[in-house]
Amino acid sequence: MATRGMLIVLSGPSGVGKGTVRKAMFQDQQRDFVYSISMTTRQPRPGEVDGVDYYFRSKEDFKREIADDGMLEYAQYVDNYYGTPLKYVNQTLDAGKDVFLEIEVNGAMQVRKKCPDGVFIFLTPPDLSSLKQRIKGRGSEDMQTIDKRMHKAVDEIKMMRQYDYAVVNDTVPNAVQRIENIIESEHLRVQRV
Ligand code: 5GP
Repeated sequence: MATRGMLIVLSGPSGVGKGTVRKAMFQDQQRDFVYSISMTTRQPRPGEVDGVDYYFRSKEDFKREIADDGMLEYAQYVDNYYGTPLKYVNQTLDAGKDVFLEIEVNGAMQVRKKCPDGVFIFLTPPDLSSLKQRIKGRGSEDMQTIDKRMHKAVDEIKMMRQYDYAVVNDTVPNAVQRIENIIESEHLRVQRV
């Protein structure tokens, strides 16, 4: 029997560029891992193809999938549902192949609970680590603005702690390289938890 594949989860705050990094990963490279196409109830954007970018489904169909326990995770994001079909992930992992998910943070935390042996990567904006210092040190903004920014930064840092790795998205090629390095290292592990 093949060794079960590894589940790789890329997530992070909205607007950080997860989709761009993921697309770059799969664009012109043959990978040893496969991308799990998500299901969504949002309308396709120009150029997006059903079954390639997403499985575009009605809310009714999506809810039926949830009721039938067909989703590994799902979340509501800006009035639409997004989720990972469970069957494809399970079949692929069982066949010994790694699966790559690119999902928002609430979904990632659901996967964390169900698949604790997955590899969880948090994509951060380039200035997150220095953000606190910079906000405090800058001295040019009013207290309310500083407060808001601090809260957001702290929330993001808190989320990051739930992940195994933090990858800075300073440039897309750099972020891709870092993710490749993580996956390679994970394969060299003697033991997985
Ligand atoms: P977009 O509409 O821009 O394609 O995606 C919106 C958000 O949904 C992004 O943050 C993306 O990472 C997230 N997303 C895409 N697929 C899934 C999924 O299967 N599950 C969850 N939880 N989020 C997803």
